[in-house]
Amino acid sequence: MKTFQESEKDLYRIAREKMVETQIKARGVKDTRVLEAMLKVPRHLFVEEALRDQAYGDFPLPIGEGQTISQPYIVAIMTEALKLKGNERVLEVGTGSGYQTAILAELALWVYTIEKYSSLLKRAKNILIKLGYKNISFKLGDGSLGWKEVAPFDAIIVTAAAPKIPQPLIDQLLEGGRIVIPVGDEYSQVLVKGIKKDGKLRTQTLEAVRFVKLVGAYGFKE
Ligand code: SAM
Repeated sequence: MKTFQESEKDLYRIAREKMVETQIKARGVKDTRVLEAMLKVPRHLFVEEALRDQAYGDFPLPIGEGQTISQPYIVAIMTEALKLKGNERVLEVGTGSGYQTAILAELALWVYTIEKYSSLLKRAKNILIKLGYKNISFKLGDGSLGWKEVAPFDAIIVTAAAPKIPQPLIDQLLEGGRIVIPVGDEYSQVLVKGIKKDGKLRTQTLEAVRFVKLVGAYGFKE
């Protein structure tokens, strides 16, 4: 007979499969590596215990400090836009819960992640280490400035909304590198994906989104 913990694990596995089928595949995400990563990463462990049963729902959830863990579908399309093959060094701005960080760590060589709130960074780091990820570097600070000491990056993902794409991030992207970021005002944005060609960013918009603010030198004011 199964223990309570084993049955609980099965329950979340089923919820995860359903999430990938109905929220992600059904809306057109095709990258099999992204789908596999989202099937594997235990999203419920990145939210507080009282919210675990809602972790696979089609919506963002609060994680403290007025911040959120992004909706699964948004995590999927942003990750897919980076076209990761496995050998990239990726910068993530806005660690938040650490869930997106785990997805990136499954798909790239190394993830550099920056978070503004120490409480969130600490919690994310704990869970990511507990889950056994060894290819992540963490930094507390203003990610709108990028991470100069370890730049350039093959890919950059910003998981908070910016008024425009921060120039330091464009500068810290390798030629041929990709960036994905929500751009707009405090209340509504569009997801922008860009590729750096001949030193310039060629951009394309994906879809309308609503993210919390990127607060920093190249973001919004507090
Ligand atoms: N990717 C996260 C996840 O999976 O949980 C979602 C992150 S949440 C939507 C955005 C995060 O960006 C918040 O944790 C917020 O504190 C952080 N943030 C906002 N401005 C920042 C900045 N200038 N530098 C670093 N992090 C920032």
